[in-house]
Amino acid sequence: MGRAYYVFENLEKERSRIHDAGCGHCVRAVAVQARQALPGRSHWHGPFPTYDEARQQATGLGLPVEDATCCVGRR
Ligand SMILES: [Zn+2]
Repeated sequence: MGRAYYVFENLEKERSRIHDAGCGHCVRAVAVQARQALPGRSHWHGPFPTYDEARQQATGLGLPVEDATCCVGRR
């Protein structure tokens, strides 16, 4: 089983962060999105099968891209 990645486009803070699909933050937030309860126009993208694809998608959104410190960036 490969890993998967999500991109959180945060239009409140004007940045995009890459999360691991196994991240608790992702799991909760994607559920929130499913209820259409996210603030503003922020949006989760994914899942992407590879980090590179997630990164490419995030870059295309036009906001600064960071690795989320709760998962991908914590190594
Ligand atoms: Zn995370």
